[in-house]
Amino acid sequence: MTTSTISSKCLCGQITVSISQTEFNKTDSIGLCYCKTCRQIGGCLASYNLYILEKDVKIEGQPKIYEDKNTDSGTIIQRAFCSNCGSSIYGKNPKSVGPIALKLGMFDELPKPGMALYCKRRPDWVKPIDDIDEH
Ligand SMILES: [Zn+2]
Ligand SMILES: [Zn+2]
Repeated sequence: MTTSTISSKCLCGQITVSISQTEFNKTDSIGLCYCKTCRQIGGCLASYNLYILEKDVKIEGQPKIYEDKNTDSGTIIQRAFCSNCGSSIYGKNPKSVGPIALKLGMFDELPKPGMALYCKRRPDWVKPIDDIDEH
C-alpha cells in the first residue's frame, strides 16, 4: 500500500515535518486548545494540533526543546520550536508513549478539527465550531 506524504516547514525553512496523508485526515485526532499555555507559546487565540504518535512523524532539522514545568497537570512537557524563527513544532510528554501534539498551523491545508479543549477559556466573542466535541 502506498500512502502519500504531506510536508511542511517552519517559517525559516530550517525544520521540515512530514506525515502521511492518512494521519493528516484524522479529524478525531485534531484539536484546538484554548488553554493559557497554548495561547502563550503561540501568541494566538488557540493552538491547533494533530495528536499523532511520534513514530508517524518525520522531522528533519533540529528543533530546540523548552522543558515546560509549569503545566496544569504538573507533568513536564517538552515544547519544540525552531531556534531560528521561533515556529512551534510540537509538544510532547517525554514520559508518555502516547501521541505528541503536532502544530498543524504550518501546513498549507488546514483540516477541520474534531475537538476543542479548554473551551471555558475561550473568549465569548469567538463562535464555537459546529459539530465538534467540546471539552
Ligand atoms: Zn525556522
Ligand atoms: Zn493547551
